[in-house]
Amino acid sequence: MNFLNNITIKNSTAALSVLLVVLAVGVSATGYAVLSEARGTSETWQHYEKITARKADHLSDLRAALGYGGVIHQFKDFVLRKDRLLIVNVHARMLDVTVALTAYSALVTTVEEDKAISVLEETLTDYLDAVAKAESLASAGMASQDIDRIVKIDDGPALAALETLSAELRAAREASSQSVYRSVSRVTFAVFTMILVVGGLTTLLVFGFFWFSRVHFVNPLLKLGDVMSGLTHGDTDTPVPYVTRMNELGAMARTIEVFRENTVWREQAERELKQIHHELEGRVEERTEVAVQAKDEAERANNAKSEFLSSMSHELRTPLNAILGFTQLLNTDPDHPLTAGQLDATEQVLKAGDHLLSLIDEVLDLAAIETGKVALDIEPRDPAPILENCATIARHLAERKGLTFHDRTTGWHLPEIAIDETRFRQVLLNLLSNAVKYNRDGGTVTLGVEGNGESVLRISVVDSGFGIPEEKHNMIFSPFSRLGLENSDITGTGIGLTITKELVEAMGGTIGFESALNLGSTFWLEFPIVSGALSAKDLGEEPVPTAAPVVAAGSADTASETMHTVLCVEDNPSSLKLLGSIIERIPGSAMISAHTGELGVDLAEIHRPNVILMDINLPGISGIEALKRLKASSATKDIPVIALTARASKKDKTQGLEAGFAEYLTKPINVEEVTSAINQAVQGAHP
Ligand code: ADP
Repeated sequence: MNFLNNITIKNSTAALSVLLVVLAVGVSATGYAVLSEARGTSETWQHYEKITARKADHLSDLRAALGYGGVIHQFKDFVLRKDRLLIVNVHARMLDVTVALTAYSALVTTVEEDKAISVLEETLTDYLDAVAKAESLASAGMASQDIDRIVKIDDGPALAALETLSAELRAAREASSQSVYRSVSRVTFAVFTMILVVGGLTTLLVFGFFWFSRVHFVNPLLKLGDVMSGLTHGDTDTPVPYVTRMNELGAMARTIEVFRENTVWREQAERELKQIHHELEGRVEERTEVAVQAKDEAERANNAKSEFLSSMSHELRTPLNAILGFTQLLNTDPDHPLTAGQLDATEQVLKAGDHLLSLIDEVLDLAAIETGKVALDIEPRDPAPILENCATIARHLAERKGLTFHDRTTGWHLPEIAIDETRFRQVLLNLLSNAVKYNRDGGTVTLGVEGNGESVLRISVVDSGFGIPEEKHNMIFSPFSRLGLENSDITGTGIGLTITKELVEAMGGTIGFESALNLGSTFWLEFPIVSGALSAKDLGEEPVPTAAPVVAAGSADTASETMHTVLCVEDNPSSLKLLGSIIERIPGSAMISAHTGELGVDLAEIHRPNVILMDINLPGISGIEALKRLKASSATKDIPVIALTARASKKDKTQGLEAGFAEYLTKPINVEEVTSAINQAVQGAHP
């Protein structure tokens, strides 16, 4: 049984083919034998039929040559008539008899036939003798009856012999048909047997093979199919049968077993993966929560930083306001002029105060840029007017320091570049003021433009200053790096270039420099060209110099002699005192003050001052709210209100002007600026 189980499909089909071939060969051989038998029988039968037919012919000839009209008859005729001519007929008939006998005996004959032929030959010999005798007797003239009596021959044996031949002929025919019948019976039997055997064997083979393949191949295949379909539906527990068989089924079963093991493994892996995924999701959620918390924290910290910086700036500006303001007053007090030493000391205070102020401004600016709080208004612009304006300021600065300024931008038509106008101006002014600041006596500063290809506009600021040592090149854009000038006379914060680089890059440009010690430096900016191209203007076209902005200062000459009331709304006593001192110097001006917004509004209603100076950070309502109330009242809506605050950002200023302040002045107080603003207000320059 084990052997049968291991028979391969290939071998079993080969065995079936061999058996069918053997069967076919057997059938062919048997068929051939049967056919040969049938053909032999047929040939034998034909042969006998031919001989029998000839014998019949010869027998008929014999009867004719012997019987009526034949030898016997012709001889009797001669004896009766004794005509010699009739002897010829006798001989002729005898010849016929001889011919027929000879032909008969040439054929295959039986013993009985041989005997009959001998009898007939003897009879013929008797007649030959009798003819001779009868002839001589006739010649002797004997009467016919006597001759007949003497030569009379008994024809009985001859006739009996003829009957024998006839009987033999009939017997031969019968034997032949018997033989044919037997042969046909044999062939019929053989064919029948063959059909039975072949049919039986074929049926056996077919059924045997069907059973074998059903038991050993089809049923196992169906089972494997069930297992496979179970596997595809997730049933991995049913064991795979037939894996030990050493045939195709075994191979297939082993493959399915591998598939089953893989499926089990994959399902397990999937389960583990899901588990891991689940755990990971949990962790990610935890981390996300942590990250969100961290982000919130960072945002809070950032806001706190901005808040801190802004309040720091405010807190620093307020005392600075008092320091600088009073120092300016001291410096310019016509009633108590300072000595040279005192003047020098107050100059130092003002210088240090200015430095502190610019430090505060720049630190704030940098913090705002770094925290992304600077909203840039970048648009394609023609940089020519900005360059021109900056060149004017730079020329002014340079000339004050005894330097020569060259503007090489005026001979060109400039293409448009995408920039924020204010910030671009800031960047350019920083580079130009550095070129002036870090220059030597009698040196030069040159502002120029170049077309670097068709896509980029390069703006360069070249100075003939003392340059930057090679080893310090990499620190130039780092904040607070003054490259060894910390203790020099040249004031600076070391933040300007850091801010400049941040701004240039925020506008999509690049900044770079080349510098050689004792020879000078070239700082350049590059911006992608949006439209147009750099092209030279016609020769001879000189730039129209733009006048430097001049701050108009209020003076006693311009002020009217009539009394003007200035209301100062300020909570800080030192600031208030400073303002009082300033207003005191404006002829015909008197000051009233309020330390809160509400009181300010009330005093304005009562006194109808000519101008109001309003702080914004106030206890109670803010300066903005107070302004709103003033503008809402018909009694006070036309009084110009000037903001005077430590809120110095550009945004604060814009918001303040939008809210309705006639002017927006920032602390620390610039005495000239405040005086001028008050003068303009009282002269009705403000709406
Ligand atoms: P600040 O001028 O306020 O010190 P900057 O950031 O503008 O700050 O410049 C940083 C430093 O780079 C300066 O202190 C100076 O040492 C150096 N520097 C800037 N521009 C020039 C220049 N044109 N020539 C020589 N040194 C320069």
